[in-house]
Amino acid sequence: MSVDVAIVGAGFAGLAMAGALRRAGRDSFTILELGRSVGGTWRDNTYPGVSCDVPSHLYGLAQHPWPDWSGVYARGDEIHRYLQHVADAEGLRERLRLDTALLSARWVDDGWTLETGGAHAGTTRASRLVLACGRLTEPRIPDVPGLETFGGPIFHSARWDHTVPLAGTRVAVVGTGASAAQLVPELVRRGAEVVLFQRTPAWIVPRGARDYTADERRRFAGRPDELAALRARLYDEGEARFASRSGDADAAAAAVAEARAHLARQIEDPALRAALTPGYAFGCKRVLLSDDFYPAVASPAVTLEASALARIDGGALVAASGARHDADLLVLATGFTASQQPYADLVTGERGVTLGEHWASGMTSFASTVVAGFPDLFVLNGPNASLGHNSSVLMAEAQAEYVVRSLDVAEARAAAGSADESCAADETGAEDRDGACHGARARSVLRLDPAAERAYTERIDAAAASTPWIRGGCDNWYVDERSGRLTLLWPGTVGAFRAMLDESDGSEFLPAGATRDPSRVRGET
Ligand SMILES: Cc1cc2nc3c(=O)[nH]c(=O)nc-3n(C[C@H](O)[C@H](O)[C@H](O)COP(=O)(O)OP(=O)(O)OC[C@H]3O[C@@H](n4cnc5c(N)ncnc54)[C@H](O)[C@@H]3O)c2cc1C
Repeated sequence: MSVDVAIVGAGFAGLAMAGALRRAGRDSFTILELGRSVGGTWRDNTYPGVSCDVPSHLYGLAQHPWPDWSGVYARGDEIHRYLQHVADAEGLRERLRLDTALLSARWVDDGWTLETGGAHAGTTRASRLVLACGRLTEPRIPDVPGLETFGGPIFHSARWDHTVPLAGTRVAVVGTGASAAQLVPELVRRGAEVVLFQRTPAWIVPRGARDYTADERRRFAGRPDELAALRARLYDEGEARFASRSGDADAAAAAVAEARAHLARQIEDPALRAALTPGYAFGCKRVLLSDDFYPAVASPAVTLEASALARIDGGALVAASGARHDADLLVLATGFTASQQPYADLVTGERGVTLGEHWASGMTSFASTVVAGFPDLFVLNGPNASLGHNSSVLMAEAQAEYVVRSLDVAEARAAAGSADESCAADETGAEDRDGACHGARARSVLRLDPAAERAYTERIDAAAASTPWIRGGCDNWYVDERSGRLTLLWPGTVGAFRAMLDESDGSEFLPAGATRDPSRVRGET
């Protein structure tokens, strides 16, 4: 098969990309997805209590408002259904190659050669490659000595085994991040007893979760203007949260006061309160939203072990504190390997270097989307594209628009007769002997100027230098452990991200033909 654009991944980002291509009249694309359905995060995370923590009417695609969300924060299964609806509404079913994993992608003869496995195993040629493989997809399994000797079932929160009964079960939960904060109250509601291993407490603020009434949902359905106004208000509220998470002293102090008051209201026992109080700057780790986590921890059903799980010994779970705990089921709510993505090792660029090698000391890019040495490659939700204060769907949508604009740049260059013009790979079109593109768009290869990537990386480093993510006194997944650089989080607001993308006018790409001279690239990227 041969297409203009191959998108890898059918989560929010891949679907946003496909929709943007479609709206731009670019119909030659395919979507490769290793799962059996679209949805990514929301297909894989089915643990009890899973839901979003950005309000649903903002945590969705702008082109696909959804009046039916059951509450302020939708459940994971609703979001999964919503993404299936989006795939249908965009008419993507015939473009989707489900159960099909990208195994390798190689830049060969001015195009990408993709090898796939699974239902659509084989070779695909694509002019452009969009990686929308996610960043919270690979469960992080902690290196706990003796883990394999645990007597009962063990699984990660993102790989929930629904055949294991919960009522009357003693469940050990490792980790107190965003997943655990949703999971633990639900385990208690389902009649489980919980031992909770907490290495580091999180800053937690009230969530304000509630169901929408039938009246509200009818009104949202009948009044699209009201829904749009709600989305705009939620966006502004999200943007306003940036200050407290990024180190603004007054905003952080107000947020700390709110979090401490929340803790004091919900936890009476001073010792438990102390154990749940973070000792690092607000925003350094992801700030959690929860109304029911503290009450669950304070209930007799939960034992808080305020140290990490250190080892498993003779069937017992031994904490770093030395305490021993028994459990029937062990749940690893330990997050994801975010800084080193498996897809990076699958992609080989112009000089035979993999993306993983290029990123050996942490992800770098220009505009969080394009990478020097990897022509016609776009990465969504990769380097410096995550947020701690607002909906990450907004970022993927903005990146998808940037990709479409970049493709327009390539076409404008080709139309102006640039040196490395060729035809886009297409199911119908091909270049004939006189070089004309029949049925396919003319194209000019987009090669990022390595200097643009260096300048962008310096800009990110400078913006991050004095923030809590770097200086806040915690370990977090926003920072690459190999370099200590902020490689996952965008150190600004969504508005600033959009403005940065809008500033990019195509001059970040080398003039056509410039990198035919390999000495220009060698050592620079
Ligand atoms: C439990 C949980 C709750 C979250 N809640 C929020 C929230 O409230 N707000 C927020 O902004 N963010 C939240 N996030 C972050 C969330 O991951 C993003 O918001 C968003 O869903 C990411 O979409 P994506 O398309 O970039 O990645 P994903 O949803 O991870 O999709 C990537 C897709 O790529 C596929 N893929 C990967 N590698 C390959 C390959 N080699 N071949 C083929 N296919 C491949 C995967 O199977 C997957 O379907 C949450 C994350 C988790 C884990």
